[in-house]
Amino acid sequence: MSVQEDHERREAYFTSRYLKIAEHWFHNNNRVELRDHETEVNRLCRFCGRGRPEVQFRKLAHAVSDFLGNRSIISMNECDECNVFFGDGCEDHLSKATMLHRTLAGIPRKHGVESTFKDRMHDEKLRIDSKPGAVNIRVPEPNSVNDLVVDGELPETIPLRGDLRSQPHSPIEAARALVKFACSICPKGELSQIQCAIEWVRGGREVRFSQFPVGFAFTPGAEAIGEKASHVMLLLRRDDGPEPYLWFLVQFRNFRFQIPLPFCPADDGVARSRMEHFQSLFPPSWPRGETTFRWLNWSGTEKVRTSWNVSHHCVESISITRPADRVS
Ligand SMILES: [Zn+2]
Repeated sequence: MSVQEDHERREAYFTSRYLKIAEHWFHNNNRVELRDHETEVNRLCRFCGRGRPEVQFRKLAHAVSDFLGNRSIISMNECDECNVFFGDGCEDHLSKATMLHRTLAGIPRKHGVESTFKDRMHDEKLRIDSKPGAVNIRVPEPNSVNDLVVDGELPETIPLRGDLRSQPHSPIEAARALVKFACSICPKGELSQIQCAIEWVRGGREVRFSQFPVGFAFTPGAEAIGEKASHVMLLLRRDDGPEPYLWFLVQFRNFRFQIPLPFCPADDGVARSRMEHFQSLFPPSWPRGETTFRWLNWSGTEKVRTSWNVSHHCVESISITRPADRVS
């Protein structure tokens, strides 16, 4: 099947089987404030169910963590206590799991414009620094571009060498953060379907998963459209069928995660046998290369350091003279 046909097949499947019930972009001129309450007196936290004076709503609660680049989608349904609970808990695991991706994609850190990924185990031999418009990568080897040349030519693809493992994190906690985002953007009308998911993200329900599927999609060269690609989406199954009732997707520049919402009553008793990747946001003709899709299993509870393969397409090579190494 060609890339074009595959794209059309996915598009036709999701159009016929799903309705888009929420879609919000990370960079909007106007902030999107998601709220369940009509008057301030009735304001409650969606996650713990409490309101004032038991809890406060002073902190700015991002419906999707700002480390993924979200500046615009704000939840008015999250109390300060739950905000801290998620930030110090599951969201920190997702942050550690995605540090390399975010740095390579040039997503600024929370408190500053630059973002850095370091090979901590090996005296920072590999270091990636990104700021708007530029990603700088310092590699331990090769020492010279000449070392890359094969048969007198630079290869089309240059793998990034060095320790590219993520920081230690628990995969199921990182998955929990994705479920939390989905619960935050879920429209009020579907709240009954996500009650058990809310209970699980808040730690009120012990579940051991043997599988927690996370769809992962990568599109090269998304810097061409920058932040315009970044958004979240919630898809609702139109009628009964062998697929999940709710899909949540978060695209952050080049990368995308897609998860089925666990514990929806509408899914009960039915084995979810049909799992499809939503079509890429980027057209099959995307000049920087096609989108690749894979399924990850984030059910693990132990901390892991995940290895990633990264390679770059060579566009142009420029020789520069480095300062001479200091001899001690
Ligand atoms: Zn709360």
